[in-house]
Amino acid sequence: MQPAILLVNAGSSSLKLALAPAHTGATPTARATVDGIGAHPRLDAKPVDGPFAAPFDPDDGIDHGAVIAWLMRTLARRDDAAQPVAVGHRVVHGGPNLVRHARLTDAVIAEIARVAPLARSHNPHSLAAIRAVAAAWPGIVQVACFDTAFHAGQDPLATTFALPAAVRAAGVRRYGFHGLSYQSIAERLDTLAPGLGTGRVIVAHLGNGASLCALDAGRSVATTMGFTPLDGLVMGTRPGLLDPGVVPFLMAELGMTADAVDALLYRDSGLKGLSGLSHDMRRLEESPTEEARFARALFAYRIARETGSLAAALGGVDALVFTGGIGENSAATRAAVLERCGWLGFALDADANHRAGPDGRRITAAGSRPAFVLASDEERILARETVTLAMG
Ligand code: ADP
Repeated sequence: MQPAILLVNAGSSSLKLALAPAHTGATPTARATVDGIGAHPRLDAKPVDGPFAAPFDPDDGIDHGAVIAWLMRTLARRDDAAQPVAVGHRVVHGGPNLVRHARLTDAVIAEIARVAPLARSHNPHSLAAIRAVAAAWPGIVQVACFDTAFHAGQDPLATTFALPAAVRAAGVRRYGFHGLSYQSIAERLDTLAPGLGTGRVIVAHLGNGASLCALDAGRSVATTMGFTPLDGLVMGTRPGLLDPGVVPFLMAELGMTADAVDALLYRDSGLKGLSGLSHDMRRLEESPTEEARFARALFAYRIARETGSLAAALGGVDALVFTGGIGENSAATRAAVLERCGWLGFALDADANHRAGPDGRRITAAGSRPAFVLASDEERILARETVTLAMG
């Protein structure tokens, strides 16, 4: 049987596993998604008779490490399934020092743990998964791909907050996220239009989390997320740009604790907080309420404003690319954004926009600067880096 790689994506309350043949470009043959970790975990295994499928009825309190340990035991029992020779983890935060995807050594794991306070709802879960894999399969090669790594080459002008040296020394700066998504788009710019790979491109990754990235010759020069994935655009449940003065007001005047502020900003704000209905763009597009309409309008307005900011960072813009669940599927959002970007030379082709699939289709009129819809493929990057770093 062919050797396999296991790809692990630990979210704040979810864990996604994919099993793929251990060669570059291979598509996964089996997947397991566990949602609701920390509350009532549910397993979705594909195929339904595949290597991750088994009756799953864990205690409610089970954590990410225990979930992955359970899934690995399930996999190991299947002698008809390819067993992994390497494991690749998507890790949200590499901090200031882990600036490249890396094979996991004790030193790299210690650094991920050291910077865990920078991504409290993600890195600890990745660490739990890494440790569970090491305990189950001692000696197996593990690789980490960091969402921050793609932005690590940005100029200090783009990453520095105007704060005193002692605070900056504690790692308080802009990092940026969604790096695997932007890497997957940056590598395919020349397939959209000849020469775009060396041009100035703004990519809009619009999913439940949302950010923009300014690419100059395929390299990230600025992005809207900062110290945490809270900054920048309106998101499903996060507010994006917020005057920092709001936080001490919430604490001193409204009596909120740091945990309550965290919950407000990560879980109850954004489209959900604005609409009072849902974090989900599809539901807002179906809703007739004024609150839902306003939430969608503010979502597009903020994207257009930040597009102007990134165009300034780039000194101009040659093309826009939309990706992520909303960027790939919401023609109305793309139209609202491009309408506000007319001053940058963009003019929508309404028919093309409605017909666009996530395959690199152009959605702007003849004579306009081009805008495209292209699905990002974070998993392809994670798989390729895992194969390359594990076998290298
Ligand atoms: P995540 O950041 O969790 O990976 P996705 O990239 O899957 O999220 O994006 C999820 C968002 O995409 C949701 O707001 C969802 O409503 C939106 N979306 C998906 N399909 C459509 C569609 N056909 N029309 C409008 N919005 C859509």
